[in-house]
This record gives sequence, C-alpha cells and structure tokens, in this order.
Amino acid sequence: MTHELRDHLLDWLRDAHAMEQQAEQMLRMQASRIEHYPQVKARIEQHIDETCQQQHLVARCIERLGGSPSAVKDLAGKAMAFGQAVAGMASADEIVKGLMASYVFEHMEIASYTALIAAADAAGDAETRGTCESILVQEKVMAQWLHEHLPGVVGDFLARDATPSTEAKR
Ligand code: MG
Ligand code: FE
Repeated sequence: MTHELRDHLLDWLRDAHAMEQQAEQMLRMQASRIEHYPQVKARIEQHIDETCQQQHLVARCIERLGGSPSAVKDLAGKAMAFGQAVAGMASADEIVKGLMASYVFEHMEIASYTALIAAADAAGDAETRGTCESILVQEKVMAQWLHEHLPGVVGDFLARDATPSTEAKR
C-alpha cells in the first residue's frame, strides 16, 4: 500500500467514524422524543446499537492502519446534523421530518461505505473491505425499512393530526 493510498483510506475512514458519531447523536435525540410511534422508536433503537458497533469496527480499521479515530475533523457536519435534529423538533410534523432526515442520512452512509470499499480494494486492504461491506448491509437494510415505513407513518401522522385532543407530532 502506498502512502497516498493509505492516507486517503485513513482520511475517509475518519470521515466515516465522525459520520457514525453524528448518526448516534441524531438517532438518540430522535428516539428519546418519540411517544406515539412505538414501531419507529424500536427500529431506531436497534439502529443505535448497530451504529455503536459500526463506530468500533471503523475505529479498529483506523488503528490497524496506524491512525487514530480521535482526530475528529468533521465538525461542520456535526453542526449540520444537530441543526437538522433541532429543526425537526421545532416543527409540528416532527416525526415525518425526522424520518425524512434519517432516510437522507442512511443514503449518505451508503455512499460513504461504497466509496470506502473501492478505496480499500485499491489499497489491497481486505479487512477494511470486509468491515465496510458488513456495515453497508446494515445501512441498506435501515434505508429499506425507512423507505417501506415512511408512507405508513405519514398516514398515521395525518390520522392523529385530524383527531382532536390527539398529539401527532411525536
Ligand atoms: Mg451507520
Ligand atoms: Fe445508519
């Protein structure tokens, strides 16, 4: 592996690690606020567990390459994720906005691990490739779940919203 390949791979692994930290923050905030959509809450809590495992797996790849995951550089991204979560909180359709934000986030994760797999291949790093492939599967399954459940959640939200004295937003 050349220095250039290793540096790019490490750089993108650190980005992925920061992304998983943002994901954990965003998902925890979402899950803690959901009251009337137990199925959504349960699925998000499951993905929080997956996200924490992913952080460990990515950190191990970084350490194996001689880097340190603590050098978190994506502060702008962190602020953005926080802003999205806060914006979602303030809206009357919080549950819908939150799931849409998650849908976008999962696809960003899918793009990141797809790129990392190609970089790992180019560097001949089979272990990083294997790790990223297993994480990619979890992100795709979560994205698919959101794709399948978003319409139903919108339906439930609208039904609750149309019922007096029933809270719909979360
Ligand atoms: Mg993830
Ligand atoms: Fe994810």
